[in-house]
Amino acid sequence: MKTLKKNIFQLCCVVLFFCCNAIQNQSANKTKRPPNIIFIFADDLGYGDLGCFGARDIKTPNIDRMAKEGITFTSFYSASSVSSPSRAGFLTGRLPQRMGVNGVFFPQSFTGMPSEEVTIAELLKSKGYKTGIIGKWHLGHRPQFLPLQQGFDEYYGIPYSNDMHNVVYMDGNDIVEHHIDQAEMTKRFHEKSLSFVTRHRDDPFFLFLSHAMPHVPLYVSEQFKGSSKRGLYGDVIQEMDWGVGAIIDTLDKLNLLENTLIIFTSDNGPWSVMEDHGGSSGGLRQGKFYTFEGGMRVPTVALWKGTIPEGLVNNDLASQMDWFPTFAALADIALPKDRAIDGVDISKVLFGKGKRAKDSYLFFSGEQLMGYRKGQWKVKMPFAGFERQRWKQGEPAHDTLLFDLEKDPGEKNNLYSTNKKLARTLIEEMNKEYAAMGELPPSLIVRNPADEGHYEYLKNKHKK
Ligand code: MG
Repeated sequence: MKTLKKNIFQLCCVVLFFCCNAIQNQSANKTKRPPNIIFIFADDLGYGDLGCFGARDIKTPNIDRMAKEGITFTSFYSASSVSSPSRAGFLTGRLPQRMGVNGVFFPQSFTGMPSEEVTIAELLKSKGYKTGIIGKWHLGHRPQFLPLQQGFDEYYGIPYSNDMHNVVYMDGNDIVEHHIDQAEMTKRFHEKSLSFVTRHRDDPFFLFLSHAMPHVPLYVSEQFKGSSKRGLYGDVIQEMDWGVGAIIDTLDKLNLLENTLIIFTSDNGPWSVMEDHGGSSGGLRQGKFYTFEGGMRVPTVALWKGTIPEGLVNNDLASQMDWFPTFAALADIALPKDRAIDGVDISKVLFGKGKRAKDSYLFFSGEQLMGYRKGQWKVKMPFAGFERQRWKQGEPAHDTLLFDLEKDPGEKNNLYSTNKKLARTLIEEMNKEYAAMGELPPSLIVRNPADEGHYEYLKNKHKK
């Protein structure tokens, strides 16, 4: 009897030991597991197009909820005022000029973001993340440049902008649909995103939801037609907002909301020459294609329930390139040492525990350095002017400009003539930062003019 009791006691001890161990391992795993990251990119969304950024004729309750329960960045810059370089900057943490991505790729482009670049998807994958991009890629559509060759496990979406010839759906490296119905696109990207999140709930994951909208041409599903007070443009944003809500609800149901950092932002400012089919810059000067605030300052919010303090507002400058070192820090991954990274780890800013380590920013348009921001001051280099064309707003020629962005975010009051000394100091600092970049590679966006000698031949022949 005694032996039996002893055996039962020993058995209980062993069971208890294993239970304790299992619980310990489980909590260790829980603390060890890095956060999931969902990065939602709108395309050509203006600074004034979200409820939490002042829009009254577009309702965005879900994105507003992200702002209310998370952090709002009021001075957040895209890496470029156009699509491809903006994406390259986000994915690599580097100014796109460092890799020659100075403009947008076209369906006839034979180039893409160089494979030697290290993307955030590659870094996160090295730490066991499942990585996916759903939506627009726009960093080269030749096989060697596609997302699966740049660190993504999964890709579903369109290879370039939705206004370009031969826009198709791709799944991985294959074209799966030649004739696409753009009215269903936003919904489809959301469905694919929900599937990605659900399938990978047991692993850390990185999802880059890269919307094709509200880039023109605008399309919306039947369900959202006429839903806003801002016409088709507003309807499109409201459908995107609905999708953000669906993602948050899904994370909540899967019990992942407290372990997921969600970011909503835009690749560049609004395409204002498209009038009511372009967005609103919310009072900022100019839009897409320009390095005035309207082209570069993008509405940005981030939610990480229980980790980012609720209702935080950050007015200091930050940039899309900051996500690269920030995600790396959150996942405890060392940054590549063999290249310059322009972004700065802003995890302290996210947690409300500190400021961004750098308060300056270089503004490029293509390969041209256009201006510089340091703290509240922004200096802009002389500009030859541009006459409005069907694709780009006009802007009169100007000499050097100096703005106090704290008092004048709309860049209306040029303070150069009364603050020349300050402007000179800023230009010196700008040039120092620019020189430190070293020699930059030639542009990868090559559009050689076609040889049209045959037309010339006919023209001359008929002249005779
Ligand atoms: Mg864009």
